[in-house]
Amino acid sequence: MIISMRPHATREEIDHVCERIREFGYKVHSIEGEERVVIGVVGVGDVTACLESLEATPGVERAMRISAPYKFVSREFKKEHSAIRVNGLEVGGDEFIVMAGPCSVESERQIMETAEGVAAAGARMLRGGAFKPRTSPYDFQGLELEGLKLLRKAKEATGLGIITEIMSDRDVDLVAEYTDCMQVGARNMQNFALLKSLGGCGRPVLLKRGMSSTIKELLMSAEYIVAHGNPNVILCERGIRTFEDYVRNTLPLAIVPELHRRSHLPVVVDPSHGTGKSNLVTDMSKASVACGADGLIIEVHNDPAHAMTDGAQSLTPQQFADMMKAVKRIATAVDREV
Ligand code: PEP
Ligand code: MN
Repeated sequence: MIISMRPHATREEIDHVCERIREFGYKVHSIEGEERVVIGVVGVGDVTACLESLEATPGVERAMRISAPYKFVSREFKKEHSAIRVNGLEVGGDEFIVMAGPCSVESERQIMETAEGVAAAGARMLRGGAFKPRTSPYDFQGLELEGLKLLRKAKEATGLGIITEIMSDRDVDLVAEYTDCMQVGARNMQNFALLKSLGGCGRPVLLKRGMSSTIKELLMSAEYIVAHGNPNVILCERGIRTFEDYVRNTLPLAIVPELHRRSHLPVVVDPSHGTGKSNLVTDMSKASVACGADGLIIEVHNDPAHAMTDGAQSLTPQQFADMMKAVKRIATAVDREV
């Protein structure tokens, strides 16, 4: 169940509703929005009696039953598509948003050249990892604070908003200070301590699907962030692990319309990790626009052959510019603004 309070309901009314819910044997999860408080009700009890009673309680606007295990992120909770504001843009609004940049921030020259290249080609945000989740502890782990500072410099030079990965709940305040959007990587999709701490980070979160996670698990992870106070979550499909080995990951694009059916949150596709091969990125980007995605996150490097991470799937700035032209053609055909 979800209880939506009237805008500007009083603290006494809110506390009274929470008390009533507990009397019915349920637990309460409330989200205090700018305009109104929404209360999530979880547990086992007499749903009908509780709903009827709450509907007649002062301060309550609407009480509704939600059958999915994820509540706040479900379409049942909110029928309209959510647009998430990031650095003055809207992800999930009318414009199809392309985020692009290197897998890792490696040097000042690398991030500046790449940022300028992607900005000139029409990217709206700059990606780049400062904290890198690597399979081997001996591989490049990212420039960390130095990388965050370089991202800030690239933002100052290009005006592009920044998206960068957060790996640990210990680093949330530090990363939030430098970035416009926090990226949760596939390997951390079920790092519940991290998800909880992102509830209070004050930044939108792009949540990548774990490589072995189901749609339901992805939505439950998004629910963690929202239930802990941050409604600004963008979902990201980045490919899953299958028996198929001609690609790095298998990119199941049917998830895009399926996520839109189940949830009001925007959906972005990452065809770079989704294929692992730069020559497949343009076609999968075109397919992503066609199937209704809200945006893309693409790896671009000024010199992919010498990239410290993910060179094989990175586009050059020129290839990215050509990709953007192809994406725009499809967007026009399906009536999307890029
Ligand atoms: C990345 O974006 O560079 C990254 C590590 O992605 P993922 O978490 O999807 O593997
Ligand atoms: Mn990468």
